[in-house]
Amino acid sequence: MKHTRPKGTRDFLPPESARKQRAEAVFRRCAELYGFQEAVTPTFEHTEVFVKSSGVTSDVVTKEMYTFKDRSERELTLRPEGTPGLVRAILENGLRIPCRLYYVGPMFRYNRPQKGRYREFYQLGVESFGEAGPEVDAEVIALGAEFFGALGIRDCETQVNSIGCRACRPQYHEQLKRFLTERSSELCPECRTRMEQNPLRTFDCKNETCQAILGNAPKPKDNLCSACAEHFQAVLAALRARDVKFALNDRMVRGLDYYSRTAFEYISRTIGAQDSLGGGGRYDYLVEDFGGPATPAVGFALGEERALLAAEQSDKPVVSRRLVFVIAMSDGERAAAGELLAELRKAGVPAQMDYDHRKPKAQFRSADNAGAQYCAILGERELAQGLVSLKDLTTGEQQELKRTELLARLAGQQMADSR
Ligand code: AMP
Repeated sequence: MKHTRPKGTRDFLPPESARKQRAEAVFRRCAELYGFQEAVTPTFEHTEVFVKSSGVTSDVVTKEMYTFKDRSERELTLRPEGTPGLVRAILENGLRIPCRLYYVGPMFRYNRPQKGRYREFYQLGVESFGEAGPEVDAEVIALGAEFFGALGIRDCETQVNSIGCRACRPQYHEQLKRFLTERSSELCPECRTRMEQNPLRTFDCKNETCQAILGNAPKPKDNLCSACAEHFQAVLAALRARDVKFALNDRMVRGLDYYSRTAFEYISRTIGAQDSLGGGGRYDYLVEDFGGPATPAVGFALGEERALLAAEQSDKPVVSRRLVFVIAMSDGERAAAGELLAELRKAGVPAQMDYDHRKPKAQFRSADNAGAQYCAILGERELAQGLVSLKDLTTGEQQELKRTELLARLAGQQMADSR
């Protein structure tokens, strides 16, 4: 029987898996530079964790969750996003706040697959808990932009907005609802429901008529209380001070219900219709809503597949692989080849050899298949003179080196690559 992968999932195989690994390493380095530490939480949680936080009016909760009962009738959900599980974890484990955490891992959403949109996808996220200052929002926004820059993605636009707080939002919601009610006959059926449940959600609608109507709607950023307006201006000033390029987008509200004040998104123009590389914002009430102490928070989630897609088009190669394939020209050099293999690995150089007594030609083919950059060749003559022939498979050049020279050179390259 032939098996196929489930709809909306993908396989990461070499060399794509190496690009993925590299992107994650770059992300970890960026996040750690800003003081974030890794947190690993389960890929499934009690369903309540998401319903309570992502919001009963968000598409993620209403339409996209993989929810199931386990064999003991527990209601569980494969995580559609990282933040709620992290909030649950900091409270359950009594983590001291303030704290800065990052995560890398798969998320699950039952949506319509298309380019850049999957049912299982990876997110790279950071969350700062317990820091209220506008500089923190700016720092988090800057970190995301820095990560995309480090991947060589040049066409990433950072969009910023503010959607107010509990003090100013109810009033604004009423105002927006009044505006929409007057035009409800022109709205799509979904927006009519959104208008009742959470009018802010209408800004997410893709329907052209709805979009045209919303063009004239009152905007969140024009209806902020003075504290929110001040915070927003300070975030923008801090971004300018950090030289982070951004654009204001007064219609961007983000798809999850828990955001307050700052909302931001990274947009690419080169990856197709699913153009959001990532997004985030402040969520000053979520920890409290979970039963914890009042805790301001801000974070983002970036889409790893989309980042890889955008990086593909950049000039900067995401991956370089310096695997060495050790080749014994005959069985007489096998033992020495095994020793060289062990020495290479000990020096931190990825290395591999053939154990099936293949002819040299077949070994060269294996080296090619493995994506090796070098072949380290040992023949009778090399062995007698204490030399190794090093062939660079990318250029075809070959030279003889002393064993110690070979080890020093390859180990040096490896060190430089990992920097
Ligand atoms: P969200 O958690 O909805 O704010 O999404 C944050 C980022 O995750 C988006 O900007 C995308 O880059 C990525 N993302 C969200 N949903 C998907 C999906 N179904 N497939 C691939 N990437 C996704």
